[in-house]
Amino acid sequence: MNIILLGPPGAGKGTQAQRLVDSHGLKQLSTGDMLRAAVLAGTPVGLQAKAVMDAGQLVSDDIVSALIGDELDAMGPGQGAIFDGYPRTAAQAESLDAILAARGRKLDHVIELDVDEDALVERITGRFTCAHCGKGYHDTFERPLVEGTCDKCGGHEFKRRPDDNEQTVRTRMAEYRAKTAPILPIYEAQGIVAHIDGMAPMDTVTAAIEAIIT
Ligand code: AMP
Repeated sequence: MNIILLGPPGAGKGTQAQRLVDSHGLKQLSTGDMLRAAVLAGTPVGLQAKAVMDAGQLVSDDIVSALIGDELDAMGPGQGAIFDGYPRTAAQAESLDAILAARGRKLDHVIELDVDEDALVERITGRFTCAHCGKGYHDTFERPLVEGTCDKCGGHEFKRRPDDNEQTVRTRMAEYRAKTAPILPIYEAQGIVAHIDGMAPMDTVTAAIEAIIT
């Protein structure tokens, strides 16, 4: 099974993808995570991508499509993938078709999380994660049970993404509206798109996704 999760930044794609990894053994392929890892490691791709990411703009199609191809090659043929944050442009959607076909895979579902952009700004600018295990938290909606201590691993260090500030978030949303939303019709023509209310509670969103894919 190969699934694309679509939606603007902060729509909950990462959270829902993680849940599908746990419940279905799928592999989460997040180009944002791959690029952040490349930035941290100081690879040539990371050096090239950093300024673009900090500004909330899109990294070049060739770079992200190459990352996706490499990740798929590293997976077993029987394992399904959840594409999270990819494709983000029509050119990437075309590349993905070719990348999947070359590996004998096909897309089963494209799930779009519909959201309210103003609410998303609050969601994104308040989010942070445990620096050790990656568990997600939020200043308003989900603080650690014991202040300063991770509920999951007991770690005491937390981090925020440098591009989770309001100005960059607004740019990232504008990029989504201008370049990513227009790829939906490509998949609608194939009859594989489902829309879900991404503002619903997380568990409700998960249940809606499960209903679509099972
Ligand atoms: P994300 O974690 O998906 O919000 O991605 C963070 C940033 O990484 C984006 O704002 C872009 O700068 C870059 N990025 C991630 N995925 C892509 C992609 N598929 N195409 C272009 N840029 C991307």
